[in-house]
Amino acid sequence: MKYQSTRNRALTASPAAAVLRGIAPDGGLYMPEAIPVLNWQSLLEADTLTLSARILSALLPDYPDMDGLVRRGYAGKFETEELTPLVKVGDRYVLELFRGPTSAFKDVALSLLPQLISQARTLENIRDEMLILTATSGDTGKAALEGFHDVPGTKIIVFYPYGGVSAVQQAQMVTQEGANVKVCAVRGNFDDTQTGVKQIFASCDQEDLPGLRLSSANSINIGRLAPQIVYYFKAYADLVRRGRIRVGEPVHFCVPTGNFGDILAGYFAKRMGLPVGRLICASNRNDVLTDFLSTGVYDKRRTFYKTTSPSMDILVSSNLERLLSLLTGDDSYVASLMKDLNEQGHYKVTEELLRKLQSEFSCGCCDDDAAGRTIGKVWAQEKYLLDPHTAVAWTVADQFSHTHHDGAPVVVLSTASPYKFPAAVLSALGQRVSDDDFAVMDDLHACTGVPVPKNLAALREKPVRHRDVIDREDMLSYVLWKAGEKQW
Ligand SMILES: *Cc1c(COP(=O)(O)O)cnc(C)c1O
Repeated sequence: MKYQSTRNRALTASPAAAVLRGIAPDGGLYMPEAIPVLNWQSLLEADTLTLSARILSALLPDYPDMDGLVRRGYAGKFETEELTPLVKVGDRYVLELFRGPTSAFKDVALSLLPQLISQARTLENIRDEMLILTATSGDTGKAALEGFHDVPGTKIIVFYPYGGVSAVQQAQMVTQEGANVKVCAVRGNFDDTQTGVKQIFASCDQEDLPGLRLSSANSINIGRLAPQIVYYFKAYADLVRRGRIRVGEPVHFCVPTGNFGDILAGYFAKRMGLPVGRLICASNRNDVLTDFLSTGVYDKRRTFYKTTSPSMDILVSSNLERLLSLLTGDDSYVASLMKDLNEQGHYKVTEELLRKLQSEFSCGCCDDDAAGRTIGKVWAQEKYLLDPHTAVAWTVADQFSHTHHDGAPVVVLSTASPYKFPAAVLSALGQRVSDDDFAVMDDLHACTGVPVPKNLAALREKPVRHRDVIDREDMLSYVLWKAGEKQW
């Protein structure tokens, strides 16, 4: 199977090469030439790791030992062997994606991506070590560090905005162990940091980095999307096993959305054969996707709001390009839309494409106040504690349930532990919040009794290992300097 650019089908790559490169040479995203349909009914009884290996082998058929990779990536790292438990909360289901080593849903993909990259390096006969550069607004950095630390043939540098992440998130990153990791704060905001990383990719060539090859861990890499397809199948199998549905009946999924990777994985699952009902795209006050799915106009020229669900504060949802490609099959049309977006800041799709989008996707949005009220309500009624991102999805699922009464179960995807955003959650419960995030964690625990994830509780005791702080202009020289050091 070949992968091809969303903007030009003639630009192809093997699955392993697509994973190594991350992005196609024309700026498009890699897509399989056809999405394989699975005999998924035969997998309903399989354990999560087996299910994972089957789905990933179908999408990345040039990998010889997917079972081994999956086991190395996941075994013993999550709170439960099933990785992503499905919990009944009221008459809905919550799919808990945050039971991994950093309590963020990004662990599901970033536990496996290092294995996929490391194996791709072997398959493509690359002698150089891979140098992963990541800019993070908080969650991705730690999940990437945890995934890549001590993986042979790889090094990773994570840049985060100085003073721009929560105290918990900063502590998670600066205490990271591993002989191949560097963490560096940048004086500037997240956009400066991300722009800095993009400029390094654009300006560095092979001579600048002898023995190293740059790669990225962000969510445009197909190696990050593929592992996320698995939990849709797993949730479906759980609902069958519990007798809530019969095989073949539909299930709706409501997804707190930022870069559109998580929800797109649900659409992949559907195209692979799973009876997915509606995919509900939930946004916070940054509601560019709600507008798009309602009107067919994508317009990024709007105010950017900082919200209590920061991982969804995003105006350009990169993975939407893959959906447009899947629904139209027309690379020059997708290229023209992306050109409009880059040059004019907006685009409009055809009526036909809008109808297709609306036949698969529902959408909705809510602000911080509504999400906070939902946290309070669900705690009061169900004694289940939502994080602010999951609360956005729950609120939008409420809107959806007002208009859809088909009896099919609604699964809300839960993307973070409430303890990663303790201040927003505690204040939603009507409690006073102090300045110290760790004290707030304790207060949240005292108030709810919900256990603090071990990895977060342990942070307080861990020594700080990374103290570098640089100006944004110095990111390139930092990378060149570190690249030249033999001993990290
Ligand atoms: C990344 C993230 C999201 C958004 O997921 P996308 O795949 O980017 O749409 C939602 N919630 C949390 C907590 C996240 O970290």
